[in-house]
Amino acid sequence: MVDTDLDESGFEILAHPTRLRILAVLVDRRKTSTEPLDFAELRRRVGMRDSGNFNYHLEKLRGRFVKGTDDGYRITAAGLQVVAAALAGEYDAGEPLGPTRLEDECPVCAEPLTARYADGMLTVSCSNEHGFRNAVARRTVEERGLVDAVEVLTITTHKDLKLACDGLCPVCHGPLEWADERVTAEGLDPDFPHFSTRCDRCGASADVPVVFPLLSRPAVIAFYHEREIDIRRRPVWASEFYDGVDVADRSDATESRLAVTVSVDGDALTGILDEHLSVVSIDIDG
Ligand SMILES: [Zn+2]
Ligand SMILES: [Zn+2]
Repeated sequence: MVDTDLDESGFEILAHPTRLRILAVLVDRRKTSTEPLDFAELRRRVGMRDSGNFNYHLEKLRGRFVKGTDDGYRITAAGLQVVAAALAGEYDAGEPLGPTRLEDECPVCAEPLTARYADGMLTVSCSNEHGFRNAVARRTVEERGLVDAVEVLTITTHKDLKLACDGLCPVCHGPLEWADERVTAEGLDPDFPHFSTRCDRCGASADVPVVFPLLSRPAVIAFYHEREIDIRRRPVWASEFYDGVDVADRSDATESRLAVTVSVDGDALTGILDEHLSVVSIDIDG
């Protein structure tokens, strides 16, 4: 059974070149004027003679992507997002790029990591198929090259993992539930300790290395900073997130608690997480 309604998601509404052209014209207008465009001028700029046909497509966009008033038409915030994504090349399949060897190693098996790009996804993985991937615009990869685009992957992955830790799906912003998951020390993969869940709304999976929930606390960022590690710029496969990381159950009869301890240069930091991956407390020993 498919319960994802693609009509509702807007893809069908936008599946027509005339409609994308209307949005592009309204974006151009926005760059030079705060005034809306009236119907006749909008139709002229889009380049359609058939007024009835043009009106049909414009009506499909009205509401969600185009706002119509007595003075004319302007693009909505949702319409702007669509045009920005199209300009970035997210919908352009294109040829795969790579693989290119990186200097980093796989945190699970220590094999070399390579980067490759296909179908809008930048993937960093080892020969044993331990991998990390995220959506990156093709234009970004082509402009920066594969190796430099990996920095973009790191920044967007940190942003997405922060959303996931805050209970929001990084793909659709629907609610992500952690409470039902088995957040216990025994349930975690010892080589790659992370929390996993899946979005009920869009089906996207979320894998959050156990250290990431702690990064919401400034004291944790400072702990790394004082030891000359800019933890928010470290790739998700960096050893800091796995080596010297220890997880222990601290649950009692009433509360679900997990202790995540990281060790750097002999100093230890322990964060206590609840079942929603919220940080209950931070304790620094060093
Ligand atoms: Zn590996
Ligand atoms: Zn989702």
